[in-house]
Amino acid sequence: MTDRLETDRPVTEVGWDADPDVAGWPGLPVLSGDLRADVCVVGLGGSGLAAVGEVLRRGLSVVGLDAGRVAAGAAGRNGGFLLGGPAIGVHHAEAGWGLDAALRLYRQTLDELGELARLLGPEVVRRAGSLRLAGLPGEPADSAEQADRDAEWADCEQQYQALRRHGIAVRYYDGELGRGLFLPDDAAMNPARRALGLARRYSGQARLFEHSPAMRIGTGRVATAGGAVSAGLVVVAVDGRLELLLPELAGRVRTARLQMLATEPVRPGRLPCPVYGRWGYDYAQQDAAGRLFVGGGRDWFVEQEWTPETVPTAGVQAWIEQVAARFAGGPVRVSHRWAASVGYTPDARPLVTAARPGVVACGGYNGTGNLVGPVAARAAVALGLDGTPPPACFAS
Ligand SMILES: Cc1cc2nc3c(=O)[nH]c(=O)nc-3n(C[C@H](O)[C@H](O)[C@H](O)COP(=O)(O)OP(=O)(O)OC[C@H]3O[C@@H](n4cnc5c(N)ncnc54)[C@H](O)[C@@H]3O)c2cc1C
Repeated sequence: MTDRLETDRPVTEVGWDADPDVAGWPGLPVLSGDLRADVCVVGLGGSGLAAVGEVLRRGLSVVGLDAGRVAAGAAGRNGGFLLGGPAIGVHHAEAGWGLDAALRLYRQTLDELGELARLLGPEVVRRAGSLRLAGLPGEPADSAEQADRDAEWADCEQQYQALRRHGIAVRYYDGELGRGLFLPDDAAMNPARRALGLARRYSGQARLFEHSPAMRIGTGRVATAGGAVSAGLVVVAVDGRLELLLPELAGRVRTARLQMLATEPVRPGRLPCPVYGRWGYDYAQQDAAGRLFVGGGRDWFVEQEWTPETVPTAGVQAWIEQVAARFAGGPVRVSHRWAASVGYTPDARPLVTAARPGVVACGGYNGTGNLVGPVAARAAVALGLDGTPPPACFAS
């Protein structure tokens, strides 16, 4: 049986790219010829760009390569949530990795968010907080949904207690969208604008190239079709499909597809901030014009979504459309549908590792890499340049 998406309109495009700031991106050159730098960064998503920034901060020279446009992958196609802490929630991370590792990652992601807001301003980083709901907005469809919501509410209580214990801001929410937790430190963005904004900022000092896929990555040298970069250190900052680029990492990171859609505007202000529910599997944010950007459903299609493919499918999209209607509080009209690859790790700790001599890699953010990815990328640079072992919140 196929799960091919049949549409009567050409809607399989990334909703974020309609933003004039993204649509007007002038592009970067393609690498041609041979260059030399202290560091070569492969992958210019949010993580690779953080690595570029970190290398510049140290006063070193850097060349960055992307296979497509800057943030051609998940970094330009995600939900745009900027959430503090690990993907699995601080209370679960505390139990699984230890208190120090969980808290350290939480604090570093909030620092990363502060830095991003400082660099890009409120036009790009909207510090509105985030809302975790127990369940989805609206009445439960059946007793199974009610039971799941009750179980999730108990988990919200545990998260609340853990956050309060560690001095992280959190409030209960009980309102139009349901019941849950409000985390005032979190934020939202158009992810493509974030990456392009950073690339613009760094392109004066770093040499950045688009449409220049790394075809061979070895000690001291990265080769593309049009040229090569010689560098003392290579940093591979690719979340999804990392094990295809560096096959020695197979088993430590596994690629999955995540899908989203965007809608025509619904009542502005319906979602005051980015909102996620049903254990974080479903999520939505609303822009100033009232459009919803909605994703989710991976848990209903687990086996099918372990794939490096990035074409949206009928089954997942039908689920997300229902979710969108719940977030909107009424019917929606879909304008865009898309998907991208992310990496998952066995114990939900992101990977920061020396993959080959002179080559370090980071990835495997378990679906929440907008802030964790940059933290990991900085740890990868420190590992490669200083030999500093990554902190315990990362698998190395
Ligand atoms: C639908 C969806 C929703 C999500 N929602 C959220 C969210 O709301 N909040 C959150 O925190 N996280 C979210 N995530 C996860 C998040 O998007 C990723 O973890 C994060 O963007 C990873 O960024 P990255 O820079 O590490 O890697 P990527 O985005 O994977 O970037 C890697 C870059 O490397 C390039 N590349 C690949 N191969 C090569 C090569 N051979 N040579 C050169 N370049 C190469 C790619 O073109 C790409 O631009 C979501 C992901 C998806 C797919």
